[in-house]
Amino acid sequence: MNNRRQTGVKAGYLCSGLVYCECGAKMHAMKSKRKGHEYHYFYCSKKCGRPVIHMEKVDDCAINYLHDLLSPKNQELISRSLQEYQGKENNRINDFNTVIQRKIKEKQKQYQNLMGNLSSGSLPAEVVADIGEQMRILKEEIAHLENTAPPEDFTVDQIKTWLQTLKANPDEKAVHLLIERMDIKNKTDINVTSTLKSVLGENGCGDRI
Ligand SMILES: [Zn+2]
Repeated sequence: MNNRRQTGVKAGYLCSGLVYCECGAKMHAMKSKRKGHEYHYFYCSKKCGRPVIHMEKVDDCAINYLHDLLSPKNQELISRSLQEYQGKENNRINDFNTVIQRKIKEKQKQYQNLMGNLSSGSLPAEVVADIGEQMRILKEEIAHLENTAPPEDFTVDQIKTWLQTLKANPDEKAVHLLIERMDIKNKTDINVTSTLKSVLGENGCGDRI
């Protein structure tokens, strides 16, 4: 009875919100029952007159697309670009730490100067109070700077494992994470755009798109 390929989707739709009609309008998912059969399809939200498209076709396209997109070659590309990103991130953390260290040194110097003023003696009481207050603030600032943690890191291995999991089980989350949009062309063709275009380039997904 059920010869429809299982796509891992139950109530929610695998590609909802991603499909666009040839006229440019979004296509909405729709379910209808006829003679005990359930039909799932996408229709133009502006009812421009172009035909509906069967959901099964859209779902299969998305799943095949993800399978191609997460090819070993592309997984390598994604990981490499993440590695580059991480490299930049590390530089950023180093810069960040250098700036913090410099600020701490400056403040420690100011603190020392104030200390010197205090120990030179014969200062009016209000100046002493003022210096004391400045020293208190500087001490707080130094403590705050020392406790400033750099942003958290991630590992490239974790990303690789995660990509493989997505490939093995392309669910609704994976589809929405990796697919930007699906445009219907010439009534039945589907043009898929990846969210990773900047990483993978225009030909990131083989020649079928
Ligand atoms: Zn339309």
